[in-house]
Amino acid sequence: MDDLRKQWRDLVTRYCIRYDAPAGDHCWTPELEMASRGELQAIQSEKLALAYRYLWQCSPFYRRKFEGAGLRHDSVRQVADLTKIPLTHREEWLDDQREHPPWGTFSPLRQQDWLERGWMLFSTSGTTAAFPRVFRHTTFDRDVWTYFGARGLHAMGVRPGDISINCFSYGTSVAFWGMHYSLNHMGVPVISGGGANTERRILFIRNYQPTVLMCTPSYCLYLGRAMEAAGAAPAESSIRLVIASGEPGACVPATKRRVEQLWGAEMHDHFGCTEVAMPPLGYSCTHQVARRDGPVETHIMEDAYIAEALDPETFEPVPDGRPGILAVSNLYSEAQPILRYVMGDWITITTTPCGCGRTHKRAVGGLRGRNDKLIKIRGLMFFPATIEDAIRSIPEVGDEFRVVIDHTHDMDQVYATIEPADPACQDGLPNLERHVARALKGSLGIRVDVAVVPPGSLPRAEFKADRLTDRRAKLSAHPNRSAP
Ligand SMILES: [Zn+2]
Repeated sequence: MDDLRKQWRDLVTRYCIRYDAPAGDHCWTPELEMASRGELQAIQSEKLALAYRYLWQCSPFYRRKFEGAGLRHDSVRQVADLTKIPLTHREEWLDDQREHPPWGTFSPLRQQDWLERGWMLFSTSGTTAAFPRVFRHTTFDRDVWTYFGARGLHAMGVRPGDISINCFSYGTSVAFWGMHYSLNHMGVPVISGGGANTERRILFIRNYQPTVLMCTPSYCLYLGRAMEAAGAAPAESSIRLVIASGEPGACVPATKRRVEQLWGAEMHDHFGCTEVAMPPLGYSCTHQVARRDGPVETHIMEDAYIAEALDPETFEPVPDGRPGILAVSNLYSEAQPILRYVMGDWITITTTPCGCGRTHKRAVGGLRGRNDKLIKIRGLMFFPATIEDAIRSIPEVGDEFRVVIDHTHDMDQVYATIEPADPACQDGLPNLERHVARALKGSLGIRVDVAVVPPGSLPRAEFKADRLTDRRAKLSAHPNRSAP
């Protein structure tokens, strides 16, 4: 069994090509980034077959799951065998940790590995206090994660010579811990803005001239407006790249335009998930963010992950170009090599060539939103990001808005509250209401009641925003095939 653990680490290490090259050089790996589709699939097959055997022997949870599906120790040898493996759902994870506290039996990690090579414990925020879902990672995981993160940052345009300011909290969430180490690996210094308030971060930007800003899309806008209120122009600051995560904003065209104009910077998207795909599962490239002819398409790092789009009802894979919900298999972790984990976000995958030369598949428009956030009104379905795009596409409207969906007079009704962008704006408010209502009708296909309130009335989102409240009884979470 120990031999298999070592084999797995050795295989993963073998594909960390150029890990030890001089700073900067190790981040561009054409052998992997520009591998043919066949070569990528061969790498995935080799990693998947060993990950399967590693889990078969070292993860009691997966052994039970594999045997329950009638699989043998050698049933998975290549990517074509992937669909033999049963899907893993979030609830199973929670049940496993409840039944086998404190770690559950998911992870192949033994206590002795944790004591010898333990790096950090992470947890998600969305569970009960008694059973927070926790994830252990080893220093081996940290190093591999660092390597993939640096490749993602390179694709986003980060280079030695940059200075970064990271406004994510350095807490028990995985968010941006990996990026911190990746930046160090690239020779890029990090100003940790995690524990600082907005005033202090503005001071950091002014005094220490960082060129890369890392935060949520909501906070990009919040911080930029706070700088303006303090008499400074974000577009004239040292920031040249905004790397956003935690919300779909960088792939919402109107939000991306706002942030890029506000900061005079390129805005990139970057996503992952705590359970299976620590960033960068998805990352934009400089070619995609420069596009003005369609949505940003974020690359999926395919030598690190296998991403599948599944039909939400049958859970069968859907062809490229069709929307489905995302399931991910991790191909590198010592502690969490989870296979076919259903993240639940809507994704449309394409493998058409990208202008940057990378051959890895892409998510059209990034992650569109979780299946349970899909809104269904009068037979139409859309994501909150569609509303955000429609409202923020109107320059006269401020950054903040709120939307309430209610069921009154036997009908679903949508109410939007907006602010004018110009604090001095007193005239023309009825026109603004009509303008926004027209934009929403055009995007959603339904009438929306719009109300304008004075600038500054709506609460400001400092981290991640939930601008939509659905007061109706919960509707079916499963959309039909014509969804997004
Ligand atoms: Zn690209």
